Amino acid sequence: MRCSWCQKEIIRNLTMQEILWPFYLQAERCPSCSELLSPITEPCCPTCQKMGQASQCQDCLDWQDVYPDYKFQHHAFFQYDDAFQAWIHQYKFLGDYQLRRTFMAELRKFLKKEKFDVICAIPLSEERYLKRGFNQVEAFLTGANIKTQKLLVKKMNTVPQTQKNRAERLMTPQPFEVIVSKEDVQGKRILLVDDVYTTGRTLFHASEVLNLYQPSEIRTLSLAR
Ligand SMILES: [Zn+2]
Ligand SMILES: [Zn+2]
Repeated sequence: MRCSWCQKEIIRNLTMQEILWPFYLQAERCPSCSELLSPITEPCCPTCQKMGQASQCQDCLDWQDVYPDYKFQHHAFFQYDDAFQAWIHQYKFLGDYQLRRTFMAELRKFLKKEKFDVICAIPLSEERYLKRGFNQVEAFLTGANIKTQKLLVKKMNTVPQTQKNRAERLMTPQPFEVIVSKEDVQGKRILLVDDVYTTGRTLFHASEVLNLYQPSEIRTLSLAR
C-alpha cells in the first residue's frame, strides 16, 4: 500500500479484519506524513473549534447576531498550518487528484459516530470547476466512499474571504442557490462539507439558503481550520 500523501510504500502487516474483509482496507498516510499534521486540540471554541479559546469565540458570537435562529456547530480535523497548506496546495492548486484519499480515515471515523441524511460538498462556480477539472471537496468525499448529494450551485465566483475585513465579509453577496425541492431538505439532518474553514462566510451562506427549507439540523465539517 502506498501513502495517500507522499506515495511512498507503507510496509505493515494487515490486520485479521483486513485480510478477511478487504473492504476495511482504506487509504492511509505513512507515519512521517501523519506526523506533519497537527490535530485540533482543546481548549478550542465549542462551536467553531478555534484553538486557544475556552469559550465561544468572538467570531461565533458575531455570527450568532447575524443568524440568531441557526444553531451552528462545526467540526474540523486539523490545524491550517504550513503542513496542511502544503497538502492543499498540491491537491487543489496543482490538481494532484491522487491526494483525495489522504483524509479518508478521519472522514470515515467521523461519519461512523455522526449519522446524516444528506452529505453535501460546497460547490464550485462553473468557471472554477472548468478551470480545476474537479470539485476538491466532492472528490475527497467520494474518494472515501462517502455518498454525497448536490443541494446547491454556486452562481458566481467570490474573492477569497481571507482578503477581506469583517464588514466586507458580511456584505459578500449570497453566492449559492438551492437546486433541489423542499422535500429533499425539510426535516433532514444535513452535513455541509468544505476543505478549509477560514471565516465561516462560505458555510454560513450555504446554511442560510438551506435553512429556508427547514432541515432538522445543519452541521458543518472541514478538513482544517
Ligand atoms: Zn507519506
Ligand atoms: Zn468560534
